[in-house]
Amino acid sequence: MTKLEKAGGCQCGRVRYRAMVDPAEAYLCHCRMCQRATGGFAASFAHLAQADCIWESEPDWYESSPIAKRPFCSKCGTPLGFQFKEGSANMDLTVGSFDDPADFVPKHHFGAEALHEAWLDTSGLPRYKTTDYEPLVQKWKDATGSVPE
Ligand SMILES: [Zn+2]
Ligand SMILES: [Zn+2]
Repeated sequence: MTKLEKAGGCQCGRVRYRAMVDPAEAYLCHCRMCQRATGGFAASFAHLAQADCIWESEPDWYESSPIAKRPFCSKCGTPLGFQFKEGSANMDLTVGSFDDPADFVPKHHFGAEALHEAWLDTSGLPRYKTTDYEPLVQKWKDATGSVPE
């Protein structure tokens, strides 16, 4: 697959990046470090070369272990990725931090020892859109006049 140029960043906009990514080079990491770092049942990552990521505004870095560091925004808290401190020319960016994360397709599970099976195949659960929840819609309308996409 060919690489696409995609942009992304944190929720508040302080940290921004541009990256050349192959949308098929994505995966879920279920390890406990990633669960803690993202607050999710797993981390969803796009895998890419460090040289293919340009930080337009520098992230903060958290040394999450003796071997790894994670870019994030210290203003809004968004987890932005993962990188070994040394010995690898590659890195990960969190799928949700891309402006348009829809292209990515996961190709494997990593950290499977801590995988939460019940959260994996959720395709049979009922689906509600944000706009189906009227109290939330009303809060948005009261605060801003409209509901964000
Ligand atoms: Zn931010
Ligand atoms: Zn992990």
